[in-house]
Amino acid sequence: MTEALLTMPPEGTPILVRAGKRISSLARRATAVATAAALLVGSWPVHAQQGGPPLLRDAETEQLLRDYTRPILRAAGLEKQNIQVVIINDSTFNAFVADGRRIFVNYGALRESETPNQIIGVLAHETGHLAGGHLAKLREQVSRAQTQLIIAMLLGLGAAVAGARAGAGNAGAAAVAAPQAAIMRTMLSYQRQQEENADKAGVKFLNATGQSARGMYETFKRFSEQSLYAAAGADPYNMSHPMPAERVRALAELARSSPYWDKKDDPALQLRHDMMRAKVSGFMERPDTVLRRYPPSNDSLPARYARAIAAYRHGDLRNAMTQIDALIRVQPNNPYFYELKGQAYLEGGKPNEAIAPLRKAVQLSNNAPLIEMLLGQAFVASENKAYTEEAIRMLRSALVREPEAALGYTQLAMAYGRKGDYAEADLASAQAAFLRGDQKTARDLASRAKTRFAIGTPGWVKADDIVNTKPIKN
Ligand SMILES: [Zn+2]
Repeated sequence: MTEALLTMPPEGTPILVRAGKRISSLARRATAVATAAALLVGSWPVHAQQGGPPLLRDAETEQLLRDYTRPILRAAGLEKQNIQVVIINDSTFNAFVADGRRIFVNYGALRESETPNQIIGVLAHETGHLAGGHLAKLREQVSRAQTQLIIAMLLGLGAAVAGARAGAGNAGAAAVAAPQAAIMRTMLSYQRQQEENADKAGVKFLNATGQSARGMYETFKRFSEQSLYAAAGADPYNMSHPMPAERVRALAELARSSPYWDKKDDPALQLRHDMMRAKVSGFMERPDTVLRRYPPSNDSLPARYARAIAAYRHGDLRNAMTQIDALIRVQPNNPYFYELKGQAYLEGGKPNEAIAPLRKAVQLSNNAPLIEMLLGQAFVASENKAYTEEAIRMLRSALVREPEAALGYTQLAMAYGRKGDYAEADLASAQAAFLRGDQKTARDLASRAKTRFAIGTPGWVKADDIVNTKPIKN
């Protein structure tokens, strides 16, 4: 799991390309960001870990979530929409859609869902919102904003928010001036009728894919009961999805009528789910919490995974390596064990040792771009010039598939710097700054890059593109 500030690729294409349309597309994007920021600023409760990045990226978890959502999206007729599941760095339970292209889910929801079926039920319900178009018109504008900026807005963080606040235009200013509760109601909570429709659609998608709606019902029932005791609006999931008792009763009836009510998750899928929850715990929770959930007496693979991760995060590297190697002996073709080994070496200050396990992880994962970026990072950190060309090639290839990954551009800039190619290094640094929302630094670096490229070359055009991007507050 990389804890870097990375974001999902929203469109599957590099952002800073296409000379012909470049200015208008970036200007549109900036405008959409400003509108979205203005609408959403301050409207979302802040639960994010202090100082942590707003999003979590992890190849293993994202692959599992893709496997969970793919059949549901197909049943909903949305398989061509390239809908992404984005994991938010927040320990509370929540999931929501804020635009037509992304399902947001807190890591707390992943950790709290005991079975694949429970979280699949939540994802099916969210897909119901997507399929039903339960999104205010204005919310559609959010869909053009970069994921990272949306999250920054949702959490009330970031320069984008400050910029939009300073220069918010008409509709935005009105929304900012409105009470937070009203913004929440209009932007991020769905109407009761929409909730019932999303439930019905969710159950339909589950039935169509031969899955039980029991997990969905269990989750919603739990929240409905909790809401009786919690202060109004205290729970983010109840706030975004109001759950009156009659809604849960209707869902119970609907879910129980399904021929798949008693169907259990496939054991192999349950194991992947348990491994994912163990990983989330190992990375995100305090070591004593990890050991309470996964005491040494628990010899299961997930428990050993969680303890191995906690050992590398909080203990000594040698002890962690012993545990990781033992995991690899159990599943010698699991790419994520090699990824963990490489990451532990890399973060333990041994980048040269990280390279072999990360190569193996890349190979076993069919070139997962996030793992390629980690390997690129190890190449760069090794300070061995023999790896420079391979690092550049690998990072560029990964960035084509993950065009919003700021960390990939940062590593690419370092690789170019090593090579002495300062034009490309400045451009990559500018792209990283742009993706982080630091437009001033992005423009400064891009201006410098322009002086280093020959006029009209692809690098010059990309740099020019960044220089000409209008600041958000305009
Ligand atoms: Zn809902």
